[in-house]
Amino acid sequence: MPERIFNFSPGPAVLPYSVLQEAAVDIVNFKGKGIGLIELSHRSKEFMAVADETEALIRELMGVPTNYKVLFLQGGASSQFFMVPMNLLQAGQKATYLNTGVWSKKAIKEAKLFGQVEVAYSSEETGFKRVPRDDEYTVAPDSEYLYFVSNNTIYGTQFPTMPNKEAMLIADMSSDILARPVDVSKFGLIFAGAQKNMGPAGVTVVIIRDDLLDRVGDKVPTMLKYKTHAEKDSMFNTPPCFSIYCVGLVMKWLKQVGGAAAMEKLNREKAALLYEMIDSTDFYRGHAEKDSRSTMNVPFNLPTKELEAKFIGEATAAGLDGLKGHRSVGGCRASIYNAFPKEGVEKLVSFMTDFAKNNG
Ligand SMILES: *Cc1c(COP(=O)(O)O)cnc(C)c1O
Repeated sequence: MPERIFNFSPGPAVLPYSVLQEAAVDIVNFKGKGIGLIELSHRSKEFMAVADETEALIRELMGVPTNYKVLFLQGGASSQFFMVPMNLLQAGQKATYLNTGVWSKKAIKEAKLFGQVEVAYSSEETGFKRVPRDDEYTVAPDSEYLYFVSNNTIYGTQFPTMPNKEAMLIADMSSDILARPVDVSKFGLIFAGAQKNMGPAGVTVVIIRDDLLDRVGDKVPTMLKYKTHAEKDSMFNTPPCFSIYCVGLVMKWLKQVGGAAAMEKLNREKAALLYEMIDSTDFYRGHAEKDSRSTMNVPFNLPTKELEAKFIGEATAAGLDGLKGHRSVGGCRASIYNAFPKEGVEKLVSFMTDFAKNNG
């Protein structure tokens, strides 16, 4: 195995090394058939089997009930910001949104194009340092759905448990899908861009309750209706074949290592190591409030911008890559998704200890 650096990138992000190895072989010669994976027709029986298996594994690992469709779409998670209200909200109807960061803000902006949007909670004025508890907001009874972002990738906040409200939930789970078990039956729709926790960029997984497919109005373009893709098993047009294949490999890996429940345990352990480090000194300051801390993304600051630049530079040189914070919050951020090894977190903690000693 060649020397691998530890990749703390927020996305596209680290993948299991075994997945990269298998994909590298299949790209050239898929399962020994004398044809490369990315040359296969999406309607070939070989690729259909790949897509079917990927879907079956997602269903199994997430416990997706039979009355839900699993779709493989393009346009990124960002296209879901408009597809959700375009399909599920008619003019004059109301939807409730929780504003917990840039990704929910962008979704709110799009939803306003289609219906009446109620922002029931916002942590914007305090720097998006937290997510709300159930008792901090209300959802109007005539609201079609409650939309939230389960993990706020940029600010390092995460709903410790899913909102428990009398409302159909819709979640952007781009950065924590399959990081813990979730009761899919509480949701009308879940979506996630693959490139954080499930695979490479290029595919967005959408899980939608099938009775919602008929809500869409006639004025919505064919390609933008969930129903179009649901009726054709995501093969209405050419799907992102390579990305779907890789998601399938990641799902096989995930199943082997114990699924979402095993991941939750490991993710908690990894995150605890980092948060204990941050809490043990005044040198590092975490961005998120303790009750809202994410197990996936850990943003933190050092005493000065100069020290942060020095920290990132020296960390990179030590094989700890991708620690620069998002441009909107600055500082540092360690993204430690499912495939990120615990050993890398231990190495970062020991690097942080030394750096604080030498520069504090
Ligand atoms: C990265 C991210 C997005 C945007 O994903 P794209 O696929 O680049 O559009 C949306 N929501 C969350 C929570 C993210 O982390």
